[in-house]
Amino acid sequence: MTNQRQVILEEVKNLGSHPTADEIYERVRKRLPRISMGTVYRNLDTLASCGFISKLEPGQSQMRFDGKTNDHYHITCMRCGCIEDAPIAPLQDSLANLENALGNLTKHGIFGHKLEFIGLCSSCRKEDKKNSRAIANHSNEKKKSI
Ligand SMILES: [Zn+2]
Ligand SMILES: [Zn+2]
Repeated sequence: MTNQRQVILEEVKNLGSHPTADEIYERVRKRLPRISMGTVYRNLDTLASCGFISKLEPGQSQMRFDGKTNDHYHITCMRCGCIEDAPIAPLQDSLANLENALGNLTKHGIFGHKLEFIGLCSSCRKEDKKNSRAIANHSNEKKKSI
């Protein structure tokens, strides 16, 4: 493994918060000031395809990376796209049953599943509260002026 790749891997593991490629690049650049964004991208791809990190593709937002490669579920914020680890163990038994059932019901060989929880993260919920308070204040003012 090249030194660059080693540094990138370390930063992904250290960040531990499902960073985007940009966030990883910012951190890596502090240690390797001459590295380019393209090099970081390419190395992230290689690290992901070799199974050192996982690549998360939450659909609506930027691609993110995960230094944890063990089986775990994620909660994605539907507003800002941040990703947190879901504090529950993978549902081995019930989902293994489901996988078997699917395998029997269809002509597909089933090799696994993806399960993603969708929610609103704590900072987005705070924003929501602020906004709804602002709306409430606004409508109060209106009432007063009438
Ligand atoms: Zn959020
Ligand atoms: Zn994770």
